[in-house]
Amino acid sequence: MDCFISSIKASVNKEYPGKITQTVYFNGCNMGCNFCPNPKLTEFSSSCRTDIKLIISEIAKKKDITDCICLSGGEPLLQKDAVREIIKFAKGINIAVKTNGTNPSVLSTFLKYIDIFDLYLIAPLNDKFKRNTGTTARFNDAGEMISAIRESISILKASNKYVTAHSYLVPGQLYRKEDFLLIADEIKDFNWKIHPLEQVSKDYINNLVKYINKKCPNIKVVI
Ligand code: SF4
Repeated sequence: MDCFISSIKASVNKEYPGKITQTVYFNGCNMGCNFCPNPKLTEFSSSCRTDIKLIISEIAKKKDITDCICLSGGEPLLQKDAVREIIKFAKGINIAVKTNGTNPSVLSTFLKYIDIFDLYLIAPLNDKFKRNTGTTARFNDAGEMISAIRESISILKASNKYVTAHSYLVPGQLYRKEDFLLIADEIKDFNWKIHPLEQVSKDYINNLVKYINKKCPNIKVVI
């Protein structure tokens, strides 16, 4: 079966000395975010078309020392059959998924097999969503995407999975504390990691964290 995967990278797993995480980079995304840190992974590029058997045989070479297989991208949950094949192979190995949350039905299908979720909330779920994520140029309109993301958040909240939310701090695009508060309001109890994509002053970051903690004391924010 063909899939669109560009690479597999192994990294040392700090929590379990001697074990590694193998990260599988899926190609293709249903968003086109202005500030995507991996723009090369957002297209279903024909040069990345490959047989899932080759990907699995590559992962298998390090199976004995692998603690976790992390499905990243792009948006891995767009390639349901490839995800299924990797999960089938992974028995006994943790599975982590990095997702933009726009595929709640696929997320539900595989929920019980996935141990760790990293949910990327790229914009507040309002009119800024369309502008920041370029969704109209892709598969679905912004309204559908927003509903889908909210559904994924509900599914993850009701699960006992280890979930971390992630957002980017982008000067000039996504930096206002009111915008972060809107995102905080959607995710409520998740831990939340905010990643500055450009250099931002320590004062700005400290004030932002203080503001969010004051308004949403249940969220643990890390920058
Ligand atoms: S959802 Fe993530 S991978 Fe997709 S375009 Fe946006 S930042 Fe890039």
